[in-house]
Formats: sequence, structure tokens, C-alpha cells
Amino acid sequence: MKTQDYISLENQYGAHNYHPLDVVIASAQGVWMTDVEGRRYLDCLSAYSALNQGHCHPKILKAFIEQARKITITSRAFRNNQFPLLLEKLHQVTGYDMILPMNSGAEAVETALKAARKWGYTVKGIPKDKAEIICARNNFHGRTTTIVGFSTDEQYKAGFGPFPGGFKIVEFGSIESLKAAITADTAAFLVEPIQGEAGVVIPPDGYLHEAAALCRQNDVLFMADEIQSGLGRSGKLFAFEHENIRPDVVIIGKALGGGFYPISAVLSNKEVLGVFQPGDHGSTFGGNPLAAAVAIASLDVIIDEKLIERSAELGKYFIEKIRSLRSPYFVEVRGRGLWIAIVLNQKARPFCEALMKKGLLCKETHENIVRLAPPLIITKEEIDWACERLKEVF
Ligand SMILES: *Cc1c(COP(=O)(O)O)cnc(C)c1O
Repeated sequence: MKTQDYISLENQYGAHNYHPLDVVIASAQGVWMTDVEGRRYLDCLSAYSALNQGHCHPKILKAFIEQARKITITSRAFRNNQFPLLLEKLHQVTGYDMILPMNSGAEAVETALKAARKWGYTVKGIPKDKAEIICARNNFHGRTTTIVGFSTDEQYKAGFGPFPGGFKIVEFGSIESLKAAITADTAAFLVEPIQGEAGVVIPPDGYLHEAAALCRQNDVLFMADEIQSGLGRSGKLFAFEHENIRPDVVIIGKALGGGFYPISAVLSNKEVLGVFQPGDHGSTFGGNPLAAAVAIASLDVIIDEKLIERSAELGKYFIEKIRSLRSPYFVEVRGRGLWIAIVLNQKARPFCEALMKKGLLCKETHENIVRLAPPLIITKEEIDWACERLKEVF
């Protein structure tokens, strides 16, 4: 079968909820992917940062295969010998004291919302069914009906209502806006420390710090969605570290599974996650031993291979090189770590298609932004290779 055969099959039977580039990948290793015709591509998307460790990392593959031979799922009806080790590892790496695993990012966000509401009623003392959660304009937290209900992107919501209440929108980056929105019934402020899908939008310096302080003063949980920004992507373990804060709740996913297996988690403390009693919340696959073994290996690779430091250093190198191209199409080139957005003065899709033809795969976000987020194992030479292609196209 050739490229076009796979595309026809997918278009015929698959729901059309994505608009992929017309490249059909058959295999990958590290930062390189190979399509069904044998052409090679440099991956500059990393599956939306689910692959910070690179494709098919040998250490994660080993953990995956070894665990798959032993036991893959028990459900949480029984205990297993991997899940506790993942909890210990996450505690050691992040310092958080209580952890709840799920599968997808959206499910972990839902878990954090439920925890925040129940904390609001049982700990803070908000009257029944009055809890409010504050979110930022241009947020992206996933695709469930509750989550798209507080999206400000019309396409994400159109046709999917009615939506649950209890959410308020504030301007991302504005302390005044947050201050004005907080009431005695506010349980939490949910925010991406750097907005990913919005186009790697970095808030003004000091914003996260002031927002965290404001939340503390008002007994409001500060909840950081680090599903995309976390685990090294921004040049720190967590993007909130750029402002030396410590959120009450942190949500992770994507690269926690090392590109092998969906796993997400909510990290917090006993005061917040302690609100869940047996039967309150759950997930059939959450905390399964295969996911746990993969996540432990995925975290080990990030730390042992110093991927956070690499992201910081090589990100600076990459962004400076892109800026130096001084393309007439560039409006702004911004980023943190190996997480770069090129804002264009026209539609981004044709540029992504042209880059694909030259062997560099990336994807537009919104109409006019190209996001570059290669696996954090990328080398300087490979960045130079990418810059040659960017230079030709831009
Ligand atoms: C990708 C993403 C999600 C949703 O994760 P899924 O695994 O796709 O459900 C939530 N929040 C942020 C910031 C994301 O980037």
C-alpha cells in the first residue's frame, strides 16, 4: 500500500475530527520518522509534547516490554507492584505528597476540577453547588464537554452544549482581571503557566507569582496545567518554576508516558486529594502496572539524560537561529526551552506543507502560528539541519 491508499482508507472510515498533513508514518527512532515510502522526517512536534524522550526510546521500550510480559492491568480493585513505585518516584521528582493517576490529560484535568470543587465544599466551606473555578482566556485543557464548556474558542464549543456552570473566564496575564473575578465562592484558578495550544503564549513576568499570592490570600487553589508545558519542555521540570512558585495542584500527562502509553496524573497534597473517598472517583486503566512501569522509565530518562538542561540550552540556540533568519513572514518568534512559536503574517499551513516536503514535520496552531517542539534529545547538528530547511522555506 502507498501513501494515497492509507489516506483514502482513513478518509473513508475515520471521523474527520483532524486535518493531518498528508504524510503516513510507518516507523520512528529518536527524532526521526520514516514514512511508508521510505522518506525520512525530523519530528518537530513530538506528538504535542508526548514524546519529549524521543520515539521508541530504548530504555522505555525495555521497561514496556518487560512489564507487558509480567502483568499489564489489575484494575484498582486489586493492588499491583508497580503503581506504588510510580507514586514514590513522582514524589521524589516533584515533591508533591499525594497523587492520583488517570490516562488522558483531559481526564486528569477533570479529576483536578472535581478535587477542587469537593475541597471547596468540605475544606473551604463554600455553600452547596456554588463553587466557582476561574480559567484563562484562550485556555486549552482538553476536549470533554465540561472542559470545552469553559473554552473561549468557539469552534471547540459549537454544537456541543449545554455546558455545566461554575466557570469564569479571566484575561491571561492580567492580575486585575483575576482579582476582580475572585469571590468567597471561588475554589480554584486553573491555568497553563505557558499556554500551549494558544501558541506558546508566555505571560508577563511576575504574573504567575502574583496570581499564586492572590490565590493564597483568598484561600483559592492555584492549579497549574503542565500537561504540555511540563516534564522539561520549557527548559524547567515545570514551567511554573520560571517564577519560583509552588502550585497547590499540578496536572501532568503527555510525556509522562514517554510516547508509549497514555498516562496522566494529578499531583497535590493530602488536604486537596484527601477529599476523595473510596468510590468517589476512578478509572479502570488509571494506575495500571504497565502505565506505571512506563512512566517510571519515562521520568528516569528525563532526569538521567538531563533533558531539562538540554531543553533550556538548545532551546536558546534554536530560537536565536530562527530569529536570525529575519524572514519577511515573521511577526514574532517566541518560546521557552525547546518550545517555540513562529507567528506569521499569513496562514501557517502552506509553510508546514512546504517544510514537510523538505523533511521537517511540524504543525500549525491556530491559523498563523507554526509551533516547533522537537523531542528534547535533539542534537545541535539536527537543529542546524532544521534551520537550513526553515531558511529555505521562510
Ligand atoms: C494536550 C493537553 C491537554 C489534554 O490532554 P489529552 O491527553 O489530549 O486529553 C490538556 N491540557 C493541556 C495544556 C494540553 O496541552
